[in-house]
Amino acid sequence: MGVVVVGAGMAGVACAVELTAAGVPVRVLDRGRAVGGRMASRRIEGRPVDIGAAYFTVRDPEFAEVVGRWRSAGLARPWTSELAVLGDASRERSAGPVRWAAPGGLRSLVRDLASGLDVTLEHEVAHVGPGPVVDGEPADIVVLAMPDPQALQLVDPSSAAAAQLTGREWRPLIAVAAGWESRRWDPLPAAFVNDNPVLSLVADDGDRRGDAAPVLVLHSTADVAREHDAAPDGAIPPMLDMLRRLLDVGVPPTWTHAHRWRFASPAGKREVDFHLGDDGIALAGDGWGTSKVETAWRSGTLLARAIAARIGP
Ligand SMILES: Cc1cc2nc3c(=O)[nH]c(=O)nc-3n(C[C@H](O)[C@H](O)[C@H](O)COP(=O)(O)OP(=O)(O)OC[C@H]3O[C@@H](n4cnc5c(N)ncnc54)[C@H](O)[C@@H]3O)c2cc1C
Repeated sequence: MGVVVVGAGMAGVACAVELTAAGVPVRVLDRGRAVGGRMASRRIEGRPVDIGAAYFTVRDPEFAEVVGRWRSAGLARPWTSELAVLGDASRERSAGPVRWAAPGGLRSLVRDLASGLDVTLEHEVAHVGPGPVVDGEPADIVVLAMPDPQALQLVDPSSAAAAQLTGREWRPLIAVAAGWESRRWDPLPAAFVNDNPVLSLVADDGDRRGDAAPVLVLHSTADVAREHDAAPDGAIPPMLDMLRRLLDVGVPPTWTHAHRWRFASPAGKREVDFHLGDDGIALAGDGWGTSKVETAWRSGTLLARAIAARIGP
């Protein structure tokens, strides 16, 4: 029967890669049209724009090996270790870890990991029950690799998984990509916007991608995302107004695109890396640790090792 992984974001794909390496048969199902989940890159005006995760950081030595392979293949690039902090009419610098970006968009990294896996896209799973079964089909183990509220919709309310998934708030966010005829701002490369009612981050997509395209991606606060949940385009004017107060971008952009993330990140972190229930239903993702790309990779990878140890090849 093998393992069924629901969710082809970083956690689900990393889990499937590790299971395959251990000789455990695995299928991946995702309702989206492409792998990547929140590592989402959308093609706008002829180039990919990262409208999900802004960048990623690397601490885990094993993840560093994966990133090293992406770098050698030209898929990932160290972007910056210094971000700006934007305030009203002020710009400071904030040193930190190296932030990595992908010339082809962050989704391209998940696509690379997923090559060779058995992945079925545009397949929405409705129910995961005792057995375990996925929409009635039996499996040895079912992995739900997605935000808690999405996984909670799939499992029985009385299940052990449901108990793990209940009680943690997830914050929404609206990402607005905007393009200009030409670049009027000094490279940022990205800027935190602290204690601001409208914006939380501004990222220079041309700078991180390495092609210098005049494209910025703005991240809203959770409050703005809640206010415009039903119609995310309504967030574009206030977010652009706030951008103009913080940064001299000159004329209005020539195009904009808004994307709503209803479950962008968990409000709190967990101290465990995954859940593997006695009932064969397992949970992984960036909700298991701090909400980061690296956490998702680690959660999926460690879960796969625990599954392989339980059921073997
Ligand atoms: C706007 C934004 C900015 C971010 N910025 C950063 C950052 O700068 N640095 C960083 O490290 N991290 C960042 N993150 C977090 C990072 O994107 C996540 O930690 C990581 O991508 C999570 O991967 P995942 O596999 O756990 O979940 P996801 O990527 O959410 O994958 C879940 C998958 O499950 C699928 N799915 C859900 N329900 C079903 C169903 N019923 N049937 C089938 N498939 C289903 C979805 O389609 C999706 O593909 C950001 C996230 C967002 C949204």
